[in-house]
Amino acid sequence: PAHFIVFFIVSRLMSIIGKLRRSNNSLASEIHSPVIGSKLCYDLEAIGLASTDYGNIVQEIPSAVLYPTSIADIIKLIKFSNICPHPFNVAAQGHGHSVRGQAMAHKGVVVKMPSLKKYYENGNGIRVSTSGNYADVGGEQLWIDVLNTTLEHGLAPVSWTDYLYLTVGGTLSNAGISGQTFLYGPQISNVLEMDVITGKGDFMTCSKDKNSELFYAVLGGLGQFGIITRARIFLAKAPKRVKWMRMLYSDFSIFTRDQEHLISIEGLEYLEGSLMMDYTPANNWRSSFFSPSNESLITSLLKKHGILYCLDMVKYYDDETIKSVDKEVELLQEGLSYIPGFTFTRDETYVDFLNRVRRGELSLKSKGLWDVPHPWLNLFVPKSHIMDFNDGVFVDIIHRQKKSHGPLLVYPTTKTKWDDRMSAVTPDEDIFYCVGLLHSGSFDDWQDLDNQNNEILEFCDRAGIKMKQYLPHYKSKEDWIKHFGSKWNTFLERKAQFDPRMILSPGQKIFNSV
Ligand code: FAD
Repeated sequence: PAHFIVFFIVSRLMSIIGKLRRSNNSLASEIHSPVIGSKLCYDLEAIGLASTDYGNIVQEIPSAVLYPTSIADIIKLIKFSNICPHPFNVAAQGHGHSVRGQAMAHKGVVVKMPSLKKYYENGNGIRVSTSGNYADVGGEQLWIDVLNTTLEHGLAPVSWTDYLYLTVGGTLSNAGISGQTFLYGPQISNVLEMDVITGKGDFMTCSKDKNSELFYAVLGGLGQFGIITRARIFLAKAPKRVKWMRMLYSDFSIFTRDQEHLISIEGLEYLEGSLMMDYTPANNWRSSFFSPSNESLITSLLKKHGILYCLDMVKYYDDETIKSVDKEVELLQEGLSYIPGFTFTRDETYVDFLNRVRRGELSLKSKGLWDVPHPWLNLFVPKSHIMDFNDGVFVDIIHRQKKSHGPLLVYPTTKTKWDDRMSAVTPDEDIFYCVGLLHSGSFDDWQDLDNQNNEILEFCDRAGIKMKQYLPHYKSKEDWIKHFGSKWNTFLERKAQFDPRMILSPGQKIFNSV
């Protein structure tokens, strides 16, 4: 209810202000450097904003916030930290859409990357190359702006996230996944070159051929090795419109068989999947696909089966392919075993399709339901265990407990499209499933959902499911070592090489456990 939300937000703010007043702001008294000290912001509002994120669960109070107006500002800050006897932590904060404080810096400095937009004369850090196959994009840029600018040239990146109000630097520090990943790889597989400020304050250009160790370290590197100030993103000709089909299944093995078939053949540009539970409405904030009449039809089907699985697939088209697209879609659907009659189609512009989650965001915001706790759990589950995962997690934990009200995503992707030299970690199988348990909690119950997440992780452990967390969150060094597995030593070596004083992105809690 609204009054709980207001109460929670006010008490959160009071607690931040209280903590701020009690702390004697060690950094403020420490930084006398004329080169950067005057650029740091200590006011309570800026510090309060840098202490929270989309997750609304973790709160870490920095000593100061930097609003950079040039790349040199960030270099000076990092170099200064390096020469301090006790270096302070530095966290780049993109759009702050992490859910566990990953972009926060306890007693350190948060660098608000979006302020770099002022660096560019026309306010736009996105330059499309005249040869037309890439764009040079500031790390602070939002993907929605990358889309809009590249479309002016009839071009667009090929690999996306479901939601576009995320920064380029933020998603490249993780991987950047969506329904296009099976075909084009994650966003990190579509980067040609980057400018990075390392943890030593060195400004370096890197690619597969130049400073390649830094290039591979930073992509999926959880912000540990450097701050991305520019990424060169691969572009292709943009389609104009999409045919978006959703088909319903009651049997998980048939659903996953059809998903795996679709990613193994040619012709599709996007494939995802999600779950509907009989205790939640057929439409959720992230996807209001069904018309009211279809919704009631689906509700009765849900009552019968308890859980339904939705397969979403998309075919792009433009003026040249408009006449053949329906036939192609028909061919793609041939041989699929969804529940007869339960297939739904939408025809949308490419932009509306890519920007689909924004509609849900605006609707939730209008109801005051966007800034609530989000105890999300994202996993990569190997194909060989996806049936066990369905039985143990979707059916036996989530459906039985009826706690989760957020979107539940499940779709396969292909390991060959990932580059194992990069820091991002995936399971050791050719096909693995991206699972997103995107819980929206209330201020009273998020802890229950978090307990459920722990139960899910324990179940996977017991069942021997060798999954990996995506957007990982761990509390102990042992868990991080297990997460990185055979990549851990390389991760350590790269940390020693590029951020030896361990100052970057402390909120990931890999090296800095304060
Ligand atoms: P932040 O939260 O600000 O930062 C994330 C991490 O990256 C931090 O460690 C930070 O220090 C570091 N960082 C930030 N900027 C830089 C930089 N320039 N250089 C180096 N390090 C940097 N992810 C997907 O893959 N697919 C999805 O479909 C998807 N959908 C989402 C939908 C919503 C509504 C939300 C809230 C998140 C979603 N995410 C998705 C997760 C998202 O990709 C990550 O949370 C991402 O980190 C958010 O970007 P940000 O700009 O907010 O990063």
